[in-house]
Amino acid sequence: VLTVLGETERFGAICANRCSVSELIEEGGRAAGVRVRDELGGGEFDLRAETVVNATGVWADRLRPTELHEEAEVPVIRPSRGTHLTIARSTLAVDAGVIVPAGGGRSIFVLPWLGRTLVGTTDRDYEGDLTHVAPDVEDIDYLLNAVNEFFGSAIERADLTGAYAGVRPLISTGDPKKSVDISRKEELYETSSGMLTITGGKLTTWRRMAQLTVDRLVEREGREAPCRTREIPLGLPAEPGELPAIDGVDRESLALLAHRYGHAANEVLRVARSEPALARRIVPDLPDLLAEVVIAARYEQASTIADVLLRRTRLGLLDGPRLSERGSEEVRAVGEVLGGELGWDKSALGAAIDDWHRTADAEGIAPPGSSPPR
Ligand SMILES: Cc1cc2nc3c(=O)[nH]c(=O)nc-3n(C[C@H](O)[C@H](O)[C@H](O)COP(=O)(O)OP(=O)(O)OC[C@H]3O[C@@H](n4cnc5c(N)ncnc54)[C@H](O)[C@@H]3O)c2cc1C
Repeated sequence: VLTVLGETERFGAICANRCSVSELIEEGGRAAGVRVRDELGGGEFDLRAETVVNATGVWADRLRPTELHEEAEVPVIRPSRGTHLTIARSTLAVDAGVIVPAGGGRSIFVLPWLGRTLVGTTDRDYEGDLTHVAPDVEDIDYLLNAVNEFFGSAIERADLTGAYAGVRPLISTGDPKKSVDISRKEELYETSSGMLTITGGKLTTWRRMAQLTVDRLVEREGREAPCRTREIPLGLPAEPGELPAIDGVDRESLALLAHRYGHAANEVLRVARSEPALARRIVPDLPDLLAEVVIAARYEQASTIADVLLRRTRLGLLDGPRLSERGSEEVRAVGEVLGGELGWDKSALGAAIDDWHRTADAEGIAPPGSSPPR
C-alpha cells in the first residue's frame, strides 16, 4: 500500500494521513468537496473538488448512508472478521504456502511471512467497533486446531508470537438467508450527488478498482483518456546484493530492506550509516532496523508508535507479546527515535508509549495466554 501511495505522489497526488472526512459538501445538489477533520492538529477544513470518490472500504456506507442505501439502493456493507496468527519458525516452519483443511468445510493457509509462520484466516460476521478489531479467542483456537491436526503439532496459545484481525467489506444482500450471495467483488456506485463509491473487492484487485473508477469519470466527462494503471510499475526493485554493506546490518536485514523498499532501501541504509545506533534491530530475532522508524516518520507520515509497529513495519503482529509488555525497552527505543523526528519532549514520549499500549491491548496482538519470550 505504501509503495502504491508513493507512486501516486510521483503523479501529483497529495496523500494526507490522519485526516478524516466528516461530511460531503454539496453545491446545487452536487458533490463539490468534503469537510475534513484534522485528527492530529485538531480543527476542520474544507476541501473543494470537482469529483468526490468515496473509497473508504468497510466504512463506505458511513458517508451519506441515506443517499447510498435509499436513493441508490446500495446494499448494506457487512463487515466480516478475519483472524490471523503468527508463530516462530522454531515452533512451526514452512518454506512454501500450505493449504490446510479446517473445520466447517473451510480451508486455511499457512505461509512463511517476514521471518515467522503466518496462519489465517477465518471469515465470520462482525458487528463490533471498526476502529480496533481484536482477534476472537474462538477463532484463534479454530486455527490452532486445524494446524495441529494437519502438522501433528501441539501448538498452544502460549506459543504464539502474535495475532491480529481485520474486517473485510463484503456487500450484503440485506437478507441473511441469502448470505451465500454476498459478493466479494468490487462494486462502483454513482449516487444522486454525483459522488462515486467504490467498495468490496480484494487487495489484489486494486488496479481493477482504480480503472473502473477512472473509466467512469472519463466517460462521465466525455473525455478521451484511457486508464494507464496497467503500464505503471510499482517502485524500483533492488536485490539485497546491490545494497551497500553497513557495519552492524546483516544479510537478513538487507534482504528485508530490499523486499520492503526496493531501491529506496538505500535511503534506510544512509540513515543507518549516519548514526550507528540506528543500524540496530528493533527486536532481537527479526531483521527490521531502528533506521526504519526514521524513514517512517520522514517519508511515510507515521505519527504514532502504532503507525510504526503495526502499519509501517509489522513487528507488533510478529512479536506481539514482547511489544505489548509494559516497560518494553524495544517500545521505548522506537518512541525515542520517532520522538526525535517529531519533536516530542519527555512527557509527549510518555504519552505516546501509553497510547501504544492502549492500542496494542485493543488490537489484541498478544493472544490470551501468551507471554513475552525470555
Ligand atoms: C483479515 C483479512 C484478510 C484479507 N486477505 C486478503 C487476501 O489474502 N487477498 C486479498 O486480495 N484481499 C484480502 N483482504 C481484503 C482486502 O484487505 C480488502 O478488500 C481491501 O483492503 C479493501 O481495500 P479498500 O481500499 O477498498 O479499503 P481499505 O483497505 O479498508 O481502505 C479504506 C481506507 O479508508 C480510510 N477511511 C475510512 N473512513 C474514512 C473517512 N471518513 N475519512 C478518511 N479516510 C477514511 C480507512 O482508514 C482506510 O485506510 C483481506 C481482508 C482482511 C480483513
